[in-house]
Amino acid sequence: MNFIETRGNDGNRPDRVSFSQALLNPMASFGGIYAPQEIPRLADDFLAEHLHQDYQSLARDILKVFEVDIADDLLESALATYERFDDPANPVPVVRIGDRLHVSELYHGPTRAFKDMALQPFGVILSGLAQARDEHYLIMAATSGDTGPAALDTFRNKPNIKVACLYPDGGTSDVQRLQMVTEDADNLKVIGIHGNFDDAQAALKRLLGSDVFRATLVERHTQLSAANSVNFGRIIFQLIYHVHSYLELVRQERVELGDKVYLVVPSGNFGNALGGYYAWRMGLPVEKIVIASNANNVLTDLIQSGSYDLRQRRLIGTSSPAMDILKSSNVERVLFHLFGAERTRELMRQLDEEHYYQLNRDEVQAMQELFCADFCTDEEGKSYIKEYFAQGYLMDPHTATCMKAHASCCNQSAHAIVYSTAEWTKFSPSIANALTGETDSHDLDALKTIAGLANIPVPERIRQLFDKPVAQKTLVDKEDIEQEVLAFL
Ligand SMILES: *Cc1c(COP(=O)(O)O)cnc(C)c1O
Repeated sequence: MNFIETRGNDGNRPDRVSFSQALLNPMASFGGIYAPQEIPRLADDFLAEHLHQDYQSLARDILKVFEVDIADDLLESALATYERFDDPANPVPVVRIGDRLHVSELYHGPTRAFKDMALQPFGVILSGLAQARDEHYLIMAATSGDTGPAALDTFRNKPNIKVACLYPDGGTSDVQRLQMVTEDADNLKVIGIHGNFDDAQAALKRLLGSDVFRATLVERHTQLSAANSVNFGRIIFQLIYHVHSYLELVRQERVELGDKVYLVVPSGNFGNALGGYYAWRMGLPVEKIVIASNANNVLTDLIQSGSYDLRQRRLIGTSSPAMDILKSSNVERVLFHLFGAERTRELMRQLDEEHYYQLNRDEVQAMQELFCADFCTDEEGKSYIKEYFAQGYLMDPHTATCMKAHASCCNQSAHAIVYSTAEWTKFSPSIANALTGETDSHDLDALKTIAGLANIPVPERIRQLFDKPVAQKTLVDKEDIEQEVLAFL
């Protein structure tokens, strides 16, 4: 299967590429990204046939439907990363928390957030392709807390790959920071910066535009790549668990094969929701995809009114920081599939230059046939955390944003799957605050508070982080990042 460009072709780049090419060089003409030329359909008996197969078989067969050009043995090693999850036989448990309400837990991987779902296999594939082509890659990442740990974990000691990861010092939870700064592999460099996530991202952009930096990479025969969520090599692994979660509901006899369900997705860059969209277009019985946001509710506005307007907006820091995003990159692929490359290019140009666009009435209607959206304030999120905890289910602040959207968007007589994107251990201060009203100043105190209330232990792998030596001590001003990365290379 070929991949084509969301903003059309500029006459210089190839006008279609293979999966591996799209994965290695994710940026396309006019600042666009790659999308499948057509979305393949699952065979009529695909779902029934996979009812009694494991997650890896399902993943393998979905990748086959996309005809990915990855050697079988490399693909098998990539899928074997799911054996590192809590339950290798079922990496994504689906838990019932209400009459027709289910939670698909995407956080049972090594770094306890949903980023592992795609980055674990992605790391194996990227390193494998680099070795086969005798190429070296530098992966640059700026993280608000979940992508960093997941990227460091997946690329740790991987041949032909180096990672430089920027994080805002003080802008992540203690657990997220410790997951990064206790990484001691030679091919990993973690740089804390004085500033917020926007500063980290801006610094990354500056670095990518620097001539000295480019020249150094050329000297080292190193190519630059990004492990960010627009890479189709990540998206493809994010559609598998949507199919899996549906099959779980059938296996648990909650729904019958063919019944439509809602997928409720806590969204930032829209990669998770996009995976659901592809799964649906491939034949998964879906009623609607429900987009949950926090106070940074650009996606709510887009779906409710067709307006994507950044002119009056500032990023708001919330207790669900992985969703504190104003430019949601993967929306572009939905625009492309619905309205074509020419219209997508026009809309994205307008967003870049004028900081807004407005879909027309037909376009809004087309979006609303697929999506519904709502947002949730931190205060509302806290009350959901408290309410569900009282009923015996502990959820993190990102997952909690889904509860309001579930109430306002879903017909309550249909079943819904809410995606849980982080374990409670990663955002313990906000959760402890929701449960007790008190503010713990350290994660370890908050972890113990929650563990005490829930009568569960603090997981060993999290507790150990607090005793591990700090291997990554670099903490610099924004201006000094380039020098640090060059020294690392
Ligand atoms: C990354 C992330 C999200 C947002 O996912 P997108 O694919 O960017 O929409 C939500 N919750 C958590 C915990 C995350 O780490």
